Amino acid sequence: MAGTGQGLRLAVIGAGAGGIAAAIRLRERGVSDVVIFEKAGEPGGTWRDNTYPGITCDVPSHLYRFSFAPNPEWSHKYSPGPEIQAYMCKVAADYGVEARIRFNSEVLSADWRDGAWEIVTNQGPQGRFDAVITAVGILHHPSLPDIEGLKAFAGVAFHTARWDHSVALEGKRIGVIGTGSTAIQVVPAIVDRAEKVSLFQRTPQWILPEPNLPIADEKRAAYRADPSLLADQYAHLAQAFNGAFCAAVAGEAPDVYARMAEACLDNLNTVADPGLRARLTPDYRMGCKRLIVSSLFYPAIQRPDAELVTEAISRIEAGGVRTADGRLHELDVLVLATGFDAHHPFGDMRITGRSGRPLSETWAKGNVTYRGVTVPDLPNWFMLGGPNSPLGNFSFLMTAERQLDYVLQLVDLLVEGRAREISPREAPTRAWTQALKEKLTGSIWASGCRSWYFDAHGNVATYPWSYETFEAEMKAPVLEDYALSA
Ligand code: NAP
Repeated sequence: MAGTGQGLRLAVIGAGAGGIAAAIRLRERGVSDVVIFEKAGEPGGTWRDNTYPGITCDVPSHLYRFSFAPNPEWSHKYSPGPEIQAYMCKVAADYGVEARIRFNSEVLSADWRDGAWEIVTNQGPQGRFDAVITAVGILHHPSLPDIEGLKAFAGVAFHTARWDHSVALEGKRIGVIGTGSTAIQVVPAIVDRAEKVSLFQRTPQWILPEPNLPIADEKRAAYRADPSLLADQYAHLAQAFNGAFCAAVAGEAPDVYARMAEACLDNLNTVADPGLRARLTPDYRMGCKRLIVSSLFYPAIQRPDAELVTEAISRIEAGGVRTADGRLHELDVLVLATGFDAHHPFGDMRITGRSGRPLSETWAKGNVTYRGVTVPDLPNWFMLGGPNSPLGNFSFLMTAERQLDYVLQLVDLLVEGRAREISPREAPTRAWTQALKEKLTGSIWASGCRSWYFDAHGNVATYPWSYETFEAEMKAPVLEDYALSA
């Protein structure tokens, strides 16, 4: 039990990147009674779920890795999804995480009762846990478009995170709804195989060109032979990405921002037809939506077998998509690249804390956390990738590890018996939330566009400060901001 320094029993929810890292780092700390609940049959999270054609990570691979498992083998600057999934599975296997995962176990409820979390999954009650680390992902619950007639479509329709690989694309008329990072990767990857691709665009995007070059064999051999080269590469990318790229998107490096915007406009100017170029031109500031990285999209959309449809969708019919100009776009396959519900991280999971009040009620008007990691009413409940975590173009693995550093310091208090229950106080939680709101109000994300950064209440719900600020915040918990019951 908590407080004894031994026998701390901990549940991790989710065996994606965050959950894998949590299990490994907990064991390093001597916490070995850890159960990971995973609703699917395989680890990997987003890389298990997203298998759509063209999937790569648009964060450089040498930055998108666990600090404790640098990988000399990445094939590309931006490696393909299956390679990342193989990396996740390999790390889980190499570090003995897999043995701790209860697969096909979806957590249905977590209730704080008499000093412990009682967890019930679809497999039944799982017992009591002293603490819970949630690693349920941010972009996990597919968002289906609220378009009339979706069910009436006579062809095959699926969301990009549920790609149906049994459907052959060769010679098909394929519609893609959406122009987010996902759709922009899908279109170039399928246009060769399809008879025609119709891309239904509601909002044009800012697109930064970035060729995805393979990493040469010699380079990989050098990384293998000398791990310090990998560390140097990581440091270089971390500076280029977090210090410059992400800071610029967050409006904190105006010169870099200007250069990036110019590169996007130069990229747009490669579109030869002025009419098409005009329809692809955004009317909001770069960085308001998540910046898209692709050198493949503009060439793909200019092909004769691709069509950009900018008329609004009126409805979906058996034969295809009907647009506001009355035209029926006849389709065999409809791909819903319509994103995710990023603001209900726990989905239908019922969570009740100390007060007995469901978290869904407490968060009914918006998710409130202390530094994105803890919640006042939920003792010993620690979140990786929780609400108001840094989003956008950061490496999720980097940010999750920083949050984990912070969480593990709180877990240490339980292990050492210095506390039995840890939860943030209300006043610092309110103060942090207020500071966040003020900073977000004037942020680039609130500068006039629609994006998944907004929650259902019209509030931007991301992390408004720089990566350096985030790192500093996660360095050590301010213990005065916590109620620690012995
Ligand atoms: P998204 O960015 O939320 O884009 C969803 C798209 O669907 C938008 O273009 C949206 O239009 C459109 N849409 C939604 N409902 C619609 C409707 N009813 N009618 C017409 N259009 C509709 O989703 P995503 O592309 O899946 O990307 C989500 C996030 O996943 C990204 O921002 C990124 O963080 C992550 N991601 C990362 C990578 C990577 O390489 N690291 C790759 C893919 C995704 P509006 O723009 O008009 O709202």
